[in-house]
Amino acid sequence: MDLIDAHLHAESLSWANLREMSMNGIRAAVSFTVSPWRAGADTNTQIALINRLLRHETWRWEENNMQLFVGIGVIAVSVPRDVEKFFLQMEKFLKEPKVVAIGEIGFDPRSQTCKDLKKQEEILKIQLKMAKARNLPVVVHTPPDLGQVKLDVKEKYHKRDFMERSVQLIQDAGLSPETVVLDHLDSEEWIRFALDHGCTAGITIQEWRDIGPDKAANWADEFGPERILLNTDTSTLPSDHLGVPKAVFEMRKRKVSEMKIKKMVYENPVDFYRLSP
Ligand SMILES: [Zn+2]
Repeated sequence: MDLIDAHLHAESLSWANLREMSMNGIRAAVSFTVSPWRAGADTNTQIALINRLLRHETWRWEENNMQLFVGIGVIAVSVPRDVEKFFLQMEKFLKEPKVVAIGEIGFDPRSQTCKDLKKQEEILKIQLKMAKARNLPVVVHTPPDLGQVKLDVKEKYHKRDFMERSVQLIQDAGLSPETVVLDHLDSEEWIRFALDHGCTAGITIQEWRDIGPDKAANWADEFGPERILLNTDTSTLPSDHLGVPKAVFEMRKRKVSEMKIKKMVYENPVDFYRLSP
């Protein structure tokens, strides 16, 4: 079965990783622009990353019999210090044929590059407006639920506040909710929340989130197949680039039908991002 990883960060993958992914059935993925914020981010680093994804990473994927698509945006965890300058240039990259979405974007109270939540909201609003104007799907990052995720976070916050505000802003922007994925949903409560609000629900199979292929398979079976996307968010943090094929393996062990599996790991991402793989 052909598989699509609906959200990852391609610059963190080695050639050997790409070969393994391809040999395990992955045919395509969508990579999003998050700059390494500990090193500091400005418009130039953001544009260098976009160019790397569009000109170099797409080539590495093709060499390994896969296709890479790209989403562009400013997420609260890595806001370029001259973000206004970046927004002036963002539009031209949205016209690139490999760019299929605006993302990932969204609040994060852990941000080290933009602690001001009002500014985070402004940055999110600008991009939701761009998505509406260009009729593009949107990937909205949601911060980890501190009650669910095994992670040492010094900031104290409630995920619900950011979920509710994000949904409000999506509605205010006039976007059709199914064209927006609320991503990194780390409990049944949040998957239900996304689906109840008409949004697409993103399940991230990733070690540091304490979501393994077994948990993801259970949730996908319980809530899928409509408006469910599976991804690994493979990045420089503890991740598993084979998370999607492993979740498929777990679903087969649970006797989930091939049709239902295919819908979630291939048809849904093709439809959501309007891909032609
Ligand atoms: Zn991500």
